[in-house]
Amino acid sequence: MYKYEEIKVVHLEPTQRCQAACPMCDRNKNGEEDNQHLTYSEIFYEDAVKIFDQDFIKNLKKMYMCGNLGDPIFAKDCLEIFQYFRKNNNNIQLSMNTNGGARSKEWWAEIAKTLDYVIFSIDGLEDTNHIYRQNVNWNILMESVNSFIKNGGNAVWDFIVFKHNEHQIEKARELAQKLGFKKFVIKKTGRFFSNVRNQGKDEHDMFYRKEKKVIKIEKPSDIWVNDALKKEKFIIEKFGSLKNYYNLTEIDCKVKKEKNIFITAEGYVLPCCWTAGRMYKWYHKDYRKEQIWRFIDAIGKERINAKIYSLKEILDNTDFFENIEKSWSKSSIENGKLEVCAQKCGILFDQFSSQYL
Ligand code: SF4
Ligand code: SF4
Repeated sequence: MYKYEEIKVVHLEPTQRCQAACPMCDRNKNGEEDNQHLTYSEIFYEDAVKIFDQDFIKNLKKMYMCGNLGDPIFAKDCLEIFQYFRKNNNNIQLSMNTNGGARSKEWWAEIAKTLDYVIFSIDGLEDTNHIYRQNVNWNILMESVNSFIKNGGNAVWDFIVFKHNEHQIEKARELAQKLGFKKFVIKKTGRFFSNVRNQGKDEHDMFYRKEKKVIKIEKPSDIWVNDALKKEKFIIEKFGSLKNYYNLTEIDCKVKKEKNIFITAEGYVLPCCWTAGRMYKWYHKDYRKEQIWRFIDAIGKERINAKIYSLKEILDNTDFFENIEKSWSKSSIENGKLEVCAQKCGILFDQFSSQYL
């Protein structure tokens, strides 16, 4: 797929920790208890220095922290890792995605000096944000945002639209302007889709911690529904089923173009967050049931761990990335085509790219 020297973008998941319990996030079971496969691993400053040598950093265009199983602000050395990248490359673009509900004003003031921008995931206003972003304290979030912006930080507001917050879009946009956000981004979520059943859904049962009961979060009105999800019927008519579409679809890999790698909090190196996102599904007692493990086990999982082997050894001396790419031309998922690639980067049904207006 690409060699070590070609890497231009690093997406880092610095931790598996988070205070929140977003019901469609893999780190918890529909908003209730934590995913039982979490190890609460973290990339510490010393790990980052070992994994990313200075010449490698000099060659990068971008490093951002986000991930599948934790929020970057909960990583002990989040700021120090960013500072290490900045020190070694003054032109690199540095950013992170966060719920914003932790850390001191002083910390936010400091990180404002280092990062190019921060994307705050705020799905509503004071009375609604916590429905999806469970456990995120609005006052702490506002304190973080204010300190970051006042100290020169470029802030982006990402707003995922649900039925319960769609009436607040304009008010949130106004608040974003008043607070000094540089951008307000409406996201039409592709999450109202079951990757297990391979079909769209109108609602999602979640455990609402505040009231200790199960409630439903619902898909928004049609204008805010992800455009790819609206194509489900057309795909089924054309291909017989979504499964068959995945067997047949051409794949346009999003990270191959960017020369992007994803590194998990445990240190595993994969092409993207979607392939890594299949590693630890809580609804499998044995997480190795997922197809991605056939690719990982074929190499040996420690061989793709950057805490053990160098990035150069992983990218240049294993067939892991190569095997993923080769799988795209297999005749079907059953015959070895990597299903997550067909789901995320199939050319006709792309929930990710359809999130943005
Ligand atoms: S804030 Fe991010 S990591 Fe934390 S629960 Fe929500 S989606 Fe998951
Ligand atoms: S899911 Fe597969 S095809 Fe898509 S970006 Fe990741 S590796 Fe590439």
